[in-house]
Amino acid sequence: MIDTHIHSDTRPYEDFERMALSLEGVITLAHDPLKPYSMDILRAHFDRLIEGEVERAKKNGLKLFLCLGIHPRMIPPDVNYSMLREYLKNEHVVGVGEIGLEKGNKEEIEVFERQLLIAQELNLGAVVHTPRRRKEEVTKTILEVIDSLDLKREMERRIVIDHCNRRIVPQIYDREMYMGLTVQPNKLTPEEAVEIVKEYGGDRFLLNSDSSSAPSDILAVPRTVLRMKIEGIEEEVIERVSHINARELFNLNI
Ligand SMILES: [Zn+2]
Repeated sequence: MIDTHIHSDTRPYEDFERMALSLEGVITLAHDPLKPYSMDILRAHFDRLIEGEVERAKKNGLKLFLCLGIHPRMIPPDVNYSMLREYLKNEHVVGVGEIGLEKGNKEEIEVFERQLLIAQELNLGAVVHTPRRRKEEVTKTILEVIDSLDLKREMERRIVIDHCNRRIVPQIYDREMYMGLTVQPNKLTPEEAVEIVKEYGGDRFLLNSDSSSAPSDILAVPRTVLRMKIEGIEEEVIERVSHINARELFNLNI
């Protein structure tokens, strides 16, 4: 099992062992831990993920992969894309994220566009945040932005639209992008995630806990997998949504 979206820098040391007991790997993403007074704040955040978190995970037997990027709530006044590009070349990085839109304003759209193009240039996956507020509307804008960039087909296939719920899955399902199901209080319950997989099948769905400083369940992925087994979902579908899709999308060696 792979948890495709957490923020390990917000979690206590003990959680790493807890994750290692049931997960083969975890992806931790850049987020908005501090006020982005300048690009230096982001640099310190990226350094902590690269130097601190990979090590904390390793000490507990947990395989940790990184996505780095500028979260829509973390845009500094002096955005520096060449600095970001250099960080993305780090050996532990498997994707750009989380990026996306929160309010959907012009500034956010520009930063989002630039990062999608960088992901394409560096041949990396991209994890796209959708907000809690005005989710359907902002997701529509996200898809319009993606369309406007005329990305290569291979790149579109490496995008995850994350924190999907029953209302936005239909907007994305007919495209080639992946859909992240975030099992977290205030997002989806394990039962709701199972219902979506039952209805749509396992193709292009990913599971994650978004474990952070908000109320979270560090074992959300194993708990959802267990729920799927109890509900009689085929082993092959479970394997897809909890491991294989993530491995293929991010080119993981697990
Ligand atoms: Zn997140």
